[in-house]
Amino acid sequence: MIKLSRPQCPNQEALRTNYKHPDNKAVLILASHDKCMYCESKVSHTYYGDIEHIKPKSKFPGLEFDWGNLGYVCARCNGYKSDKYDEANPILNPYDEDPETHIVVLGAFFAHKDNSTKGKITIEEQSGVHLNRPALIERRQDRINLLKKVIGACAKLEDSAKEAVLESIKPEAEEDKEYSLCVKALLKTEGID
Ligand SMILES: [Zn+2]
Repeated sequence: MIKLSRPQCPNQEALRTNYKHPDNKAVLILASHDKCMYCESKVSHTYYGDIEHIKPKSKFPGLEFDWGNLGYVCARCNGYKSDKYDEANPILNPYDEDPETHIVVLGAFFAHKDNSTKGKITIEEQSGVHLNRPALIERRQDRINLLKKVIGACAKLEDSAKEAVLESIKPEAEEDKEYSLCVKALLKTEGID
């Protein structure tokens, strides 16, 4: 999960009756770089993705067509979250606050920062979007392993070649890349940032 910026709603008229109108959905997809706003999985690789209500419409019917309450998510995060939302203890909304204030990355795993109840609630299966679900850890670990392999192979290169390869790895931590929070942490540990 990374900090996101909410764009303007391009089609206010459609939003009044259709919270997932294609004009508006397209902009929300771009805003989270075609990734789930919670788990950073690329969504359109496997299906069309969902526009979901950050505060569920079953509990907040008045927010069904509220632009600030919509986001692009994968089916897994949407499924986990739907009936668990607790107004007194909401999960992290990456459009409103920086997840890194609440979450720390340990390799392919996420942990909550000291004293962050919100981080804990967000990560755990029973209360949030289960950011340490096995399938996600596997995908994040694959990404880490691939990059570590490249970094390891660089050790054999002469300095200028090594520098060129390491420089070309840096964009892998950019926000449009899958699991960028993990990659950013890895590159920092490896001194490539
Ligand atoms: Zn997700």
